[in-house]
Amino acid sequence: SSTPHLLQLSQLCVSYGPVEAVHQVDLHVAAGEIVTVIGPNGAGKTTLLSAAMGLLPSKGQVSLSGGVIVRPTVEAMVAQGVGLVPEKRELFGEMSVEDNLRLGGFSLWRKGERDQGARLQEVFDIFPRLQERRAQMASTLSGGERQMLAIGRALMAKPRLLMLDEPSLGLAPLIVREVLQVVASLRDRGVSVLLVEQNARAALKVADRAYVLEMGAVALSGNARDLLHDQRIIDTYLGAG
Ligand code: ATP
Repeated sequence: SSTPHLLQLSQLCVSYGPVEAVHQVDLHVAAGEIVTVIGPNGAGKTTLLSAAMGLLPSKGQVSLSGGVIVRPTVEAMVAQGVGLVPEKRELFGEMSVEDNLRLGGFSLWRKGERDQGARLQEVFDIFPRLQERRAQMASTLSGGERQMLAIGRALMAKPRLLMLDEPSLGLAPLIVREVLQVVASLRDRGVSVLLVEQNARAALKVADRAYVLEMGAVALSGNARDLLHDQRIIDTYLGAG
């Protein structure tokens, strides 16, 4: 179809000095899609996400709904409805759950949208656990709760595209499933997702489409369910468990 994709990366290249970490990546996320990028350690997944969010300079093109972002910056991406949940989660440990969430809504507040209460309630509906713990200090949360808070904080800015960097990192398998199921359910709330994961099996189970990144380049892409049954993917990424 001729409808432009929500996010389109075209021939994206990212270098650290002389070393090219991401090489000519073409990737898109259509509205309503959950797309995952899987691949081994050091394949360039975090680098790709950071460049797409404007945290790192890149060559090539980043477009949102067909509009080319000439030089992506975090401010420009946030203003256009993109949210990022970084791998390190970057919460304010000495602040309450609620205050961490309110900080996430700051960009809307600046735009004159003052009804943070309603937004806060929506996030609490998605993560009831955060509501129970709204007054608790972020540093005292469990790993899974911290990940929920990081996602909730990004959702406070009402993104239409949420990019997540390894939300499963350090979480027990049961919690991974819980967090990823919530991520997948965001689609029903009008949020599309770009999910970077080393946990290929868990990611392929919730995603619509997937890209396999190897040594900075797309080695394979396709329907997530097909890749889950692809012998090369099984041998390389789904072997254990
Ligand atoms: P992981 O899952 O381990 O985080 P990844 O797929 O996210 O891996 P990246 O972190 O994007 O991979 O790293 C891609 C390549 O770029 C690696 O070779 C890494 O060593 C290199 N790299 C990452 N950050 C930097 C940096 N700040 N300076 C120089 N090289 C870097």
